[in-house]
Amino acid sequence: MINKIKDNVFQFCFKQFGSCVYLIKLNKNILIDTGSKSNESELLDNLKELGLDASDINTVILTHTHYDHNGNIDLFDKAEVYDYENISDLDVPEFKIIKTPGHTEDSICILYKDILFSGDTIFHKGGRGRTDLAGGSEREILDSIKRLEKIDYNILCPGHDD
Ligand SMILES: [Zn+2]
Repeated sequence: MINKIKDNVFQFCFKQFGSCVYLIKLNKNILIDTGSKSNESELLDNLKELGLDASDINTVILTHTHYDHNGNIDLFDKAEVYDYENISDLDVPEFKIIKTPGHTEDSICILYKDILFSGDTIFHKGGRGRTDLAGGSEREILDSIKRLEKIDYNILCPGHDD
């Protein structure tokens, strides 16, 4: 299912378990996360509905490296892929990256205008990511959430949105 967040920002939500995927159309086509493998065909259908093929995606940003977020990364072999490791090389001046360890050590959030893409760090209704998986840290996620509270955004786009 495609939800239009803004003229150039779309949210894809899927039937099977997996993260939401966000498409931001700037001078390039940017995806935030890729969902789980079980949602591959739905993801491709959603892109097609917006007139895009996987090869039209120029940049993929992973909010963290869990299988339900990076499951379809192999579809985007034409894209530059960014995660925690190389995110400082990302050349999208419209984006501000916030490193938010806690759910995983490599969790990041992305601020674009008044939209915060929060991965699995925070969810709607005050929810937050679990910290009992590998690399999780309760203390770190609380620090990260404090940092996010200082950020000025109006629209929250989390990794899971029920
Ligand atoms: Zn996760």
